[in-house]
Amino acid sequence: MEESFIKRLMASIKCGVCGQHYEVDDIEVLGHEEDLWFLRAFCSACHTQCLVAAVIKEDRAPEVITDLTEAELDRFKDVAGLTADEVLDMHSFLKDFDGDFSRLFSRKQA
Ligand SMILES: [Zn+2]
Repeated sequence: MEESFIKRLMASIKCGVCGQHYEVDDIEVLGHEEDLWFLRAFCSACHTQCLVAAVIKEDRAPEVITDLTEAELDRFKDVAGLTADEVLDMHSFLKDFDGDFSRLFSRKQA
């Protein structure tokens, strides 16, 4: 799937902090594992940077599994066992990730 297509789809979702729609130019595709895409989005309205995980299929709207703000990323970093330099390098994350999102993100609330 084209990255430009992914970005257009993701522009239909809203910033979790202020509710503003993301701009296509504010979305960066980090990587994907089949239909599961990881993106970094920067909100031009409230200047919050989010890491978004979403299931994207061509024939439907993207299903956002999670979006993490920078503060949440600090916690996520510990959960995933990544260094600060690696935290946004989702390629290394994807390499070791076993696909169990419910387990990974249920720990967030623990
Ligand atoms: Zn915002």
